[in-house]
Amino acid sequence: MAGAAAWGWAAARSKNRENPSVPAYQSELLHSLYNYSPIAFAVIDRQGRFLDINHDPYELFGYSKEDMAGQSFVRLLDEDSHTPTLQTFYRTLNGENCSLDIRIRHKDGHPIDLNIATSPMIRRGKTIAILVFVQDISERKRTLERNHYMAYYDDMTGLPNRRHFMNGLERRIRETAGQELRPAICYLDVDGFKLVNTSFGRDFGDMLLLQVAERLTRCLSVHGDLARMEGDEFAGYLGEVSEPAEAARKVEQIMEVLEEPFELNGVPIHLSASLGVAVREPGDDASSLLRKADAALHRAKENGRNDYHIHTPDMDPAALDKLTFQHEMRKALSAEEFVLFYQPQYDLASGQIVGMEALLRWKHAERGYISPGEFIPAAEESGFIVPLGDWVLEEACRQNKRWQDAGLPKIPVSVNLSMRQFFRRDLTAKVEEVLAQTGLEPQYLELEITESMTMDVDRASDCLAILKKLGVQVSIDDFGTGYSSFHYLKNLPIGKLKIDRSFVRDIQQDPGDAAIVSAIIAMAHNLQLQVIAEGVETEEQMHFLRRHRCDEMQGYFGSPPLPAADMLKLLEDKRNRFALSVTSEAAAASEE
Ligand code: C2E
Ligand code: MG
Ligand code: MG
Repeated sequence: MAGAAAWGWAAARSKNRENPSVPAYQSELLHSLYNYSPIAFAVIDRQGRFLDINHDPYELFGYSKEDMAGQSFVRLLDEDSHTPTLQTFYRTLNGENCSLDIRIRHKDGHPIDLNIATSPMIRRGKTIAILVFVQDISERKRTLERNHYMAYYDDMTGLPNRRHFMNGLERRIRETAGQELRPAICYLDVDGFKLVNTSFGRDFGDMLLLQVAERLTRCLSVHGDLARMEGDEFAGYLGEVSEPAEAARKVEQIMEVLEEPFELNGVPIHLSASLGVAVREPGDDASSLLRKADAALHRAKENGRNDYHIHTPDMDPAALDKLTFQHEMRKALSAEEFVLFYQPQYDLASGQIVGMEALLRWKHAERGYISPGEFIPAAEESGFIVPLGDWVLEEACRQNKRWQDAGLPKIPVSVNLSMRQFFRRDLTAKVEEVLAQTGLEPQYLELEITESMTMDVDRASDCLAILKKLGVQVSIDDFGTGYSSFHYLKNLPIGKLKIDRSFVRDIQQDPGDAAIVSAIIAMAHNLQLQVIAEGVETEEQMHFLRRHRCDEMQGYFGSPPLPAADMLKLLEDKRNRFALSVTSEAAAASEE
């Protein structure tokens, strides 16, 4: 083909005696180009006015050929394209071929991106006009912009993403290198957000995050200063500071704007956030600065959330400690370092042991017994809680069955479930499997969940309904400290409420707590639920609970959590009752 074309041109050229570089069929070619070329071109005079245009310009510009004739090209241009276009025309008039991306305005006002390629039209060595080839690149531009947007912005909030933030941070670190004022950043995590997501669903969570993002932009309003890093985590550029305290002031403002309740579907929602702050030290690049802010954030979370922490050099080993801890925990399970303690639960009317709660302990080779408060949150965070929780369930059921087989009174054992365990899909299958394996009858297993786990009412009801079908009991632990709704208490198949020990503790001193406890008992009974009070430490507390017809109690007053061997002794002692001294009961009665 190439050969044939070359031959065609050469042959045609030879026929044009006047100008050998122009084909003999010049006029036919021009006619075809002008009328049928898919590429649009315009002829512009030396003053930049339209002389001619091959296509109907209506579609592209919104003007007819007649409208455009004699009009200035520049008039169509977007302001930003003025200067470069004029420069291009100028160079073309001087004989250059040029190419340029410009933006024009359609007659109805919307922007159109064009690529123009300009060539001089020369007659006898002089440029008499400019030929402008015009290509609509709006679609290509849009695709590029979309790709850029997807690469540098978060789709949901429209905020810059991690990549965008890191690029900006790197630039600022470069710009401020060697200066006295140093860049400061914060890393923010919304407290308890996973709970919102698991309880209300992702859509709800997303709407809440949008509102959080909007609030944050009030404090970090310069473009690029605020980014959504992932999930419920945001990063903010706090500016350049001379000392960390300056960054802290900005962070306090951020915490303040989040204080006001959010509203979703008319429901007010209180949120808080934990923040980690880092100020650049010599040698820090963007990644190490972010890592420092992240380490500080973890510290803020460990310290009870809803707070901020400024990174200090001693903090990095802590992260390492944490990893080691996670690793040790996993090793401990296979090394059988976890044990269960059992705390008896007493019937308040008879004083008899009617149940027990299995409480996990880690018998650490060097540190002795570690309480669950220290390792359950870490286990929950890493997901290790699932195998660990399985072990607790199996061990508690096996032990209870063993005691029953030994002829001891048949009483249920309570097992605490963590959030992750409760929300796993195969929870009921697991419970069924453990019961089958150990041979424990389902009515002797009670599962303790917390109020927050019932926030996703649909999910919780499905799960609880299946557990109920299995014949397993369910109680609400730490009742009164979380979100409560009469609706779920009435509708979910729950058997028992465990009044949180914080209310029981001050029953004697705090009339408010006393009122809460008696109200919970009355309400539970009206809803046909059993009530147990936890953390009962004194005789007076016990009497108060009896007077208010609380069904059961658990706490140091009866017995602390005991190793299995000691619990066995307690169960064997048929006479074991908690001490009910007549005198103190009489004293309590006279109080009323
Ligand atoms: P919880 O389920 O509310 O357990 C009751 C806690 O109160 C236990 O703490 C118990 O030792 C303590 N306690 C009992 N009587 C008294 C008292 O009279 N006064 C006071 N001040 N405290 C009393 P422990 O064993 O340290 O457990 C703490 C929490 O760890 C438990 O709270 C439970 O939420 C969690 N936990 C324990 N074992 C497990 C487990 O196997 N799995 C899961 N997921 N969580 C567990
Ligand atoms: Mg419990
Ligand atoms: Mg509790």
